[in-house]
Amino acid sequence: MSTFSRREILAAFLGVPAALAACSSSIPARLPAGEIIGASDVLGHRLRDGLRVDVPLDKWERARVVIVGGGVAGLSAAWRFLKAGFEDFTLIELEPVAGGTSRSGSSPLVPYPWGAHYLPAPTKENQPLVELVDEMGMLEGHDQFGAPVIAEQFLCRDPEERLFYKGRWYEGLYLHAGATPEDERQFDAFNEEVKRWIGWRDGKGRRAFAIPVASASNDAEVTALDRISMADWMNQRGYNSSRLRWFVDYACRDDYGLTLDQTSAWAGLFYFSSRVAKPGDESQPLMTWPEGNGHLISHLYSKSKSKVRLGHAVVEVIPTASNGKNGVDIVMVDANAKNASGIHADRVIFAAPHFLTRFMIRDYRDNPPNHVAEFQYGAWMVANLFLKDRPRSRGFPLSWDNVLYESPALGYVVATHQRGLDRGPTVFTYYYPLCDEDPRAARARLLSTDWRGWADVTLSDLERAHPEIRDLTERLDVMRWGHAMIRPRPGFIWGSARAAAALPFRGIHFANTDLSGVPLFEEAFYHGLRAADEVLLTLGQNRER
Ligand SMILES: Cc1cc2nc3c(=O)[nH]c(=O)nc-3n(C[C@H](O)[C@H](O)[C@H](O)COP(=O)(O)OP(=O)(O)OC[C@H]3O[C@@H](n4cnc5c(N)ncnc54)[C@H](O)[C@@H]3O)c2cc1C
Repeated sequence: MSTFSRREILAAFLGVPAALAACSSSIPARLPAGEIIGASDVLGHRLRDGLRVDVPLDKWERARVVIVGGGVAGLSAAWRFLKAGFEDFTLIELEPVAGGTSRSGSSPLVPYPWGAHYLPAPTKENQPLVELVDEMGMLEGHDQFGAPVIAEQFLCRDPEERLFYKGRWYEGLYLHAGATPEDERQFDAFNEEVKRWIGWRDGKGRRAFAIPVASASNDAEVTALDRISMADWMNQRGYNSSRLRWFVDYACRDDYGLTLDQTSAWAGLFYFSSRVAKPGDESQPLMTWPEGNGHLISHLYSKSKSKVRLGHAVVEVIPTASNGKNGVDIVMVDANAKNASGIHADRVIFAAPHFLTRFMIRDYRDNPPNHVAEFQYGAWMVANLFLKDRPRSRGFPLSWDNVLYESPALGYVVATHQRGLDRGPTVFTYYYPLCDEDPRAARARLLSTDWRGWADVTLSDLERAHPEIRDLTERLDVMRWGHAMIRPRPGFIWGSARAAAALPFRGIHFANTDLSGVPLFEEAFYHGLRAADEVLLTLGQNRER
């Protein structure tokens, strides 16, 4: 139970005016049924508190490779192994379902996301991702320039996005309504600068901002952008239009869970530039599914299912050496932390978030390398609302992505949108990033707010645009992501930590999107494949430090 009053909780998460408005009625606010869903916080916290277990002698087995973590990165590593014909591996995943922050849920009506919910169509340069998309039957062909063409039904349907401002909805995410000529001038100037960066190439022909990040330029002109915040970058250029600043701040909160002041200018410009093939083009179209990127997870998981052990937490990763050969022992427990078992392996792919290395890798526990502390993660709350009918809208109609200008949250996406079901029951997925300066304070606020608190915050926020939402919501479930995503704050992307963290250590190879400094499917996929290739190359050769 939360010790704070309703008004205090709403004020903390939605601001005082919204809290006062929500609490103005004497009728108690109704809450629907619902609960907090995973993630396995309790076991996760025990791990971080130093949980140690002894493995009985008869509970050890052998595999050449163990993959720790069944999110996008771990499943992508497994995908690569199987494509290469390598099958002597086991993937261990803490949760009872695969997918990590791209996992999804299901209901009789429609599946829905719990985290990641879209993937921009890959450009032709990202061949491995084009291959995955093709394997999934989503590639229709190539255009005259060789760019992949995605089949229409996998691209986000119209209308794609809308914005709620002062009582009505508007098309798109930039608020043109009521903009002054100066607002429009600054918006155009900003887009021109982004265009320049899209066309920028270094001496080696590399883009300033590319996906995967590993293929982007490390030229000093570009990396200097990582030393300042996006807010500083805008200030230096005199971008003071509140509409433009809101638009860019929203982009940072949406992709990174950070405000304009907290985001590296490199990351901010990456958001706008990396998904546009060439100057003058539109951004790559978005691919989405009712269950969001859970769709991609289902495919990857279906390929490696027989190799995956769900509901098992890796407790310790112990590098070993005998006869000059590296090996790695893995110690794990089942979900109730009662039954311990182990695997003797030659190599490990550590595809869980990097901050966990200092609790799990034996050598790191007493003496963690400096780079580990540089990995900081934001906290997010995600709620799924099960509605018996659509709320009414004034202005632009219900879209896939629906954002409230005056809210600290990001609004909601609609699970039935892609199915073309435009009437009747649906599921809304509502996203709230906690953008506190100190990520630990954000996590404390996230986890100390119970289901009632988060359900009420969600409904009170959406009530601004949909006064009848409380009556329409039959159920509301909540996911609290304590370490939701890496924070690309100034200095992180082009500092030394990322590069150091990606180097293999005594038979352990690292994957996870956090190694890119930006939390994206493409980056997790890239690191999964890279780590798998490293392992395939070094197996039996013992070439690392
Ligand atoms: C709310 C939210 C919205 C997002 N939206 C998008 C989006 O729309 N598009 C997009 O591209 N990206 C989005 N992302 C980013 C998303 O994180 C990445 O796309 C991707 O899913 C990251 O995958 P990963 O495998 O690198 O990491 P993770 O998803 O963190 O996977 C790590 C896995 O390791 C497991 N694990 C941890 N500890 C252990 C242990 N001790 N033993 C065994 N297993 C363990 C975890 O359970 C987890 O399954 C979003 C993220 C969040 C949180």
